[in-house]
Amino acid sequence: MSYITELCPACRSVLCPENEIRDEGYATVELKPEAFQSAVKQGCAICSIIWNKTEQQAKTWFQTLPEACIKLEFDYSSIEPKGTSLFVYYTYPTSDSFDILSFHIIPADGVPRIEPSTSSTSSLTAAYNWFQGCCSTHTNCNSKIFAKAGWYPTRLVDIGHKESSHWRLLVVSEDGISPQSAPYMTLSYRWAPNPKPILLASNIDEFRHGKPIKDFPQTFRDFIVVARRFSIRYIWIDALCIIQDSRGDWEIEAPTMRFVYANSICNVAASVSNSPNEGLFRSRDIDKLNVRIVPCSLYSGKEEPSYIYEEFWDETIPEAPLHKRGWVLQECILASRVLYFGKNQIFWECLTRRKCELLPNGLPLEEPSRRDLIDLLHQADTSNSRKMSDDLSELWIRYVNEYSRCTLTNPSDKLAAIAGIAQLFQDFTGDEYIAGLWKSRLVEMLNWRVLMPRELKSLDYRAPSWSWASTEGDLNFEVHYDVELPELVDVPLPGPFDVRLPELLDVCVRARGPHNMTGILEGSITLRANILVVTSGGNQGHDRYSVFDDTGRSICLEFYPDRLNIDLPEGDKLTLMHLRPKWGWFLHYLVLVEVFVPAGSEVQYRRVGYAFPENEKYEEECKDEYDYFMSRSSVENITIV
Ligand SMILES: [Zn+2]
Ligand SMILES: [Zn+2]
Repeated sequence: MSYITELCPACRSVLCPENEIRDEGYATVELKPEAFQSAVKQGCAICSIIWNKTEQQAKTWFQTLPEACIKLEFDYSSIEPKGTSLFVYYTYPTSDSFDILSFHIIPADGVPRIEPSTSSTSSLTAAYNWFQGCCSTHTNCNSKIFAKAGWYPTRLVDIGHKESSHWRLLVVSEDGISPQSAPYMTLSYRWAPNPKPILLASNIDEFRHGKPIKDFPQTFRDFIVVARRFSIRYIWIDALCIIQDSRGDWEIEAPTMRFVYANSICNVAASVSNSPNEGLFRSRDIDKLNVRIVPCSLYSGKEEPSYIYEEFWDETIPEAPLHKRGWVLQECILASRVLYFGKNQIFWECLTRRKCELLPNGLPLEEPSRRDLIDLLHQADTSNSRKMSDDLSELWIRYVNEYSRCTLTNPSDKLAAIAGIAQLFQDFTGDEYIAGLWKSRLVEMLNWRVLMPRELKSLDYRAPSWSWASTEGDLNFEVHYDVELPELVDVPLPGPFDVRLPELLDVCVRARGPHNMTGILEGSITLRANILVVTSGGNQGHDRYSVFDDTGRSICLEFYPDRLNIDLPEGDKLTLMHLRPKWGWFLHYLVLVEVFVPAGSEVQYRRVGYAFPENEKYEEECKDEYDYFMSRSSVENITIV
């Protein structure tokens, strides 16, 4: 195959070292310009990648410091029999910092046949073999941990037998399916503006009567090719199975989305298509597949042909256009099996393994992303008062951070498109879901800030201001644990330990949907917390603010507005609520403003952002600031809406 390659003498000396060097796990080589250029020309699997990533930098080096060397430091200290991770730190003489390449090296047990399109027989056969293998041997994947036994979506699309030229819409409760327990597949894809066809109240009879498959957009037709290869007769596609012009139908169907995907026998993801017209399959240039075969003796002690590749998964799947779409996160988490159609390869992920066409037996150094979730859900202890374990709460926060980087066509879907995962967490932990946060960890979960605020696309109310769901933009939602830290370190940490955490007194959320999952109408929390009322001195540029307390002392704040265009004009009254539940003298504030309430009602606040003292320093340098805040602030009951 054309992707078999060699290593330059320098890289080869590291991957096929003398025995005594092998145990160290580190090696350094230095290359002069001629040696580096000749390595690239020769196609060295490592040097070529460095060149491709840094061509301009390399040219500057050749021109300005032709006598100096590029330094390559290899770290392969985590050797396992099934392969090794290799980090290559490279430093150009023209730069004083290094960059890193991260590779996996594993035994190449036979080279798979790769054809020039992902629609080829060999690609679809590989996919079918993964599907079959998973259905027949993987205990976890067949345990249907996320699914509901015997459940079917309200409607399904019947694609008929292998030769059928027509599809028709089934209403499962009326038409049934045949045989009664026949499986169905789902599709994750990106919508186009004005998509066609879509199910409407006016065309439901026509859809039930049957329509030609040839009129479907390309992705739907390709999906049918895959379903037929898997011998699956029923498929579910949102545009065809939810009545798109009926709010009532949407309100019935949206909460079932969790089971639509969890009960799917396999979810197909059109990862690199921006619309249903772009199709699932891609032609590919085999030479551009980013895997090489090189000799390596690091993990077995004897020289063997080995695959060397950079991250397959993380650079391919999460970065693909489909996975920037908000709804897709839960679709791909809740389905037991997902088949991703990428640019160069088809990828498989079930609850047990990750595979791809080049590594059809599995990516040996990678775990499926949902392994953590399953383990943690199994350990969830509903009898504990902290219903959400540290690890599970950390996982929730990771999902929310990831989700905040995705976009939604309809901003009012912000809570709906992650509600399936929330329901799963709720079922396993018994915790109460509060507009995107969890009750047993509510105070910690107020600790988010928006890193890249975006303008709200709609002013419709969707969540209280203390919930991340009220914002648009990339979040930094941080994980904080309680006071266990000091015992874990040898040196005593300075500062008070959570002695002044806000205390949750009351929480009240009213929602249209059940379990506060979606359709939030209003919500408030009442906390007992340290607050300090200050006056804004105006924006000093780059969201740096000077604020003044009632003695006129100034505090410089780094302010993170929850939305674009939040300004705190000079003279405005602000309330800083000390939040950060962590050791040390760190001050982190929620920035609150009073909301207008009728005369005689209790004062209420709205969150507008997050702040901390500018140039927050570590440990004792913060102490003065902390002591001052604590001496000036008062402990009060405060209600935030
Ligand atoms: Zn090399
Ligand atoms: Zn499996």
